Amino acid sequence: MDMTLSSEHEAVRKVAHDMVETAVIPHAIQNDREERFPTEALDALKQTGFIGLTIPEEYGGSGADPLSYVLVIEELGRGDANVRSILSVHLGLVSSAIVNWGTEEQKQRWLPQMAAGDVLGCFGLTEPDYGSNPGDLAASAVKEGDTYRINGRKIFITNGTIAGVALVMARTGGPGARGVSAFLVPTDTKGFTANAIHGKLGLRSCDTAELVLDDVVVGADCLLGGTEGTGIKVALSSLDFGRMSLAASCTGLAQRALEVMVDYTTQRTQFGKPVAGHQLVAELIADTAVDVDCARLLTYRVADMAARGERFTLEASKAKLFASEASVRAANNCVQAHGGYGYIDEYIPGKLMRDARVTTLYEGTSQIQKLLISRAVTGVNAFT
Ligand SMILES: Cc1cc2nc3c(=O)[nH]c(=O)nc-3n(C[C@H](O)[C@H](O)[C@H](O)COP(=O)(O)OP(=O)(O)OC[C@H]3O[C@@H](n4cnc5c(N)ncnc54)[C@H](O)[C@@H]3O)c2cc1C
Repeated sequence: MDMTLSSEHEAVRKVAHDMVETAVIPHAIQNDREERFPTEALDALKQTGFIGLTIPEEYGGSGADPLSYVLVIEELGRGDANVRSILSVHLGLVSSAIVNWGTEEQKQRWLPQMAAGDVLGCFGLTEPDYGSNPGDLAASAVKEGDTYRINGRKIFITNGTIAGVALVMARTGGPGARGVSAFLVPTDTKGFTANAIHGKLGLRSCDTAELVLDDVVVGADCLLGGTEGTGIKVALSSLDFGRMSLAASCTGLAQRALEVMVDYTTQRTQFGKPVAGHQLVAELIADTAVDVDCARLLTYRVADMAARGERFTLEASKAKLFASEASVRAANNCVQAHGGYGYIDEYIPGKLMRDARVTTLYEGTSQIQKLLISRAVTGVNAFT
């Protein structure tokens, strides 16, 4: 098994690394403090072409393979998880759904604009009363001739106020997952409102919104793939990519926590020597170094399976579960190793901890990942 990156993958990583060092890291703390959207990073994502990284070349993207995507996301996660979330949702959740499920007309309509970054995507699955159990969601889409009338509310939607297209899951049929369909809703449609959510614990500079769909009427050509009843399948297949991406981001965040910890603990002295030389601090560093490697290896395995066209749902779940929990441990260790300075927002450890914390909650909580994994391993459904 060859674990070395090819020269092409190294080159992609380097471009992403350099971009993060110049356009992301210098602004991250200030943007976080002011809840300011990272416009300079979004511009850099457009300039580098990363904004359309995985969109096929025939639709104006770069057609990059899954490992290239993972490498870019890992570097963004290392620099600022806010920037990473913008790209992950746009590419991993929304454009991947259009590529995999859309009609040719839908691909032509949305993908070139998304590849250029002229239109961003948001993913509208979660509702106020349905989070871990989206199969029961309440938003409705009623067919009226050759249009659908959509009503409902979505909550915690990343890119919600800045997206030009919302992938919205809404009920067209009876109860349960089979009654749900996916729609590509232009966000300038009458009746569509996005209200920004402020005061998040972390990810403060990325856009999170409540979506209100109040008698939103769209053409039947907005039904993704032209088929009713596939909405939850679409969402779950997008979440496979989303979880791979989130695992990569968490690997990057844990890597950053390790780098920051090493810098600080080798310079800060107490009791006449660098604190890294005290065994209990060394343990924090060693645990984090192992977590980073494990998270990275699990994530790269998913990318490898995706590149070979294999189903990777279970492996993406494992990688997401491990890497998200590892990123929380890593950031917490980083704060601990900084002593009181880790608690002041002039320094990065506190931001890493706050940004890491959400990753065990979204795209399926850690509890939900464990249920998915145990069901796959045992064949016994522990959900109900
Ligand atoms: C910053 C942020 C960004 C987000 N971005 C998006 C987005 O872009 N699009 C989108 O659609 N959603 C998004 N979400 C929503 C996110 O995916 C949900 O919050 C998440 O799925 C959990 O749903 P919930 O909050 O309703 O929690 P609940 O489902 O109410 O869960 C509450 C608790 O119960 C546990 N639980 C639930 N069911 C079970 C069970 N069967 N067994 C064991 N434990 C269980 C959960 O693990 C959790 O601990 C985002 C959330 C945040 C915070």
